[in-house]
Amino acid sequence: MFTHKNSEALQKEAEDVILGGVNSPSRSYKAVGGGAPVVMDRADGAYFYDVDGNRYIDFLSAYGPIITGHAHPRIHEAIVEQSSRGILYGTPTKLEINFANKIRQAMPALEKIRFVNSGTEAVMTTIRVARAYTNRNKIIKFEGCYHGHSDLVLVAAGSGPAQLGSPDSAGVPEGVAQDMITVPFNDIESLKEAIAHFGDEVAAMMVEPIVGNFGIVEPFEGFLEEINEIAHANGSLVIYDEVITAFRFMYGGAQDLLGVYPDLTAMGKIIGGGTPIGAYGGRQDIMESVAPLGPAYQAGTMAGNPLSMAAGLACLEVLEKPNVYTELDRLGRKLEEGINALIEKYGIEANTSRLVGALTIFFTTEKVTNYQAAEDTDGEMFAKFFRGLISRGVNIAPSKYEAWFLTTAHTDEDIEDTLAVVEDVFKNDF
Ligand code: PLP
Repeated sequence: MFTHKNSEALQKEAEDVILGGVNSPSRSYKAVGGGAPVVMDRADGAYFYDVDGNRYIDFLSAYGPIITGHAHPRIHEAIVEQSSRGILYGTPTKLEINFANKIRQAMPALEKIRFVNSGTEAVMTTIRVARAYTNRNKIIKFEGCYHGHSDLVLVAAGSGPAQLGSPDSAGVPEGVAQDMITVPFNDIESLKEAIAHFGDEVAAMMVEPIVGNFGIVEPFEGFLEEINEIAHANGSLVIYDEVITAFRFMYGGAQDLLGVYPDLTAMGKIIGGGTPIGAYGGRQDIMESVAPLGPAYQAGTMAGNPLSMAAGLACLEVLEKPNVYTELDRLGRKLEEGINALIEKYGIEANTSRLVGALTIFFTTEKVTNYQAAEDTDGEMFAKFFRGLISRGVNIAPSKYEAWFLTTAHTDEDIEDTLAVVEDVFKNDF
């Protein structure tokens, strides 16, 4: 069992100067019983090394971006090379053209693209663009999907599909919440009810086409097609939040995997190869609403910065090689089958959901198809599981809602070692 003395001491120091000791609340261990989060010292390939000298097999993958493993040589080289040529110009560069073309080749529905600096910014801007294009204000989102921390998306569901939302965070004004309607994922009837009520005010419906934020949850057959039909019949746009899913399951987006296309797409995470990035894009006529061509304003000092462009290009060059996703799928399957065998062997009330290299263990016997079901899973069992893993050298996110993300750096041996740790946890801690 690992000890974390140095992490605990550093966390005290952090709390003295950094609010709450963390720069993003999801890094705290609040959701798994509290205590000091493990402080990492360095990362290499599939491994993390903490400040106490412990090594972990990493499945957090920085909440998704690190799909090629940490410090991938190709991305490292691109960053070093670019930093010698300057990292921020504030002028157009050839790199950003090359990178936009590379993304559009993989995701043809993004007829025009803009780079920003985070998923939050990308989503926030697609909402502005949809509002500008439709001249309407309300947005429909799906319960449990996370779209970053801008005001409008931090709105909780009302008591039914015909109810407006209320602020989900202090500091979000009631007035903003009045423009957001939240309906359950995989529930077309609720969407129809919301449209019956608010129809001609709805600018867009925004969805994670494959959910990554209450575990990996796939849409029911026909769900996304119906969203498109209902939205377009109503004069509304469809926005896909592909911040997690773009280049996650194939070389392209979830939209390319499923063959259903939105009007606008927001992206982030993987496309930056581990550097800060966001991007949005979509139909040319809609994108032309954005300045300097149109009246909707969006800008950024760091937008399209050469460092992120170089790292992102290098990342996509790694991902476009043959067999990358078949290998992620093979290892993902091996991990999932191994975990399921252990769930059965030790009689644990849990089941898994996986797509290619992204996996969730839900502590429930029910299949999870919407947020309510994910919320109903056993948080105490998850906390015990998390603590068992982290004290034996497997690092996952400290939240029952987050997925495990495999990388191209994981090996068969890493999966076997992970399964041995999971078995030890199920056997001794449950
Ligand atoms: N959209 C989705 C689907 C996300 O998962 C996230 C972050 O986890 C965001 C948007 C926000 O992205 P960022 O944290 O880069 O602002």
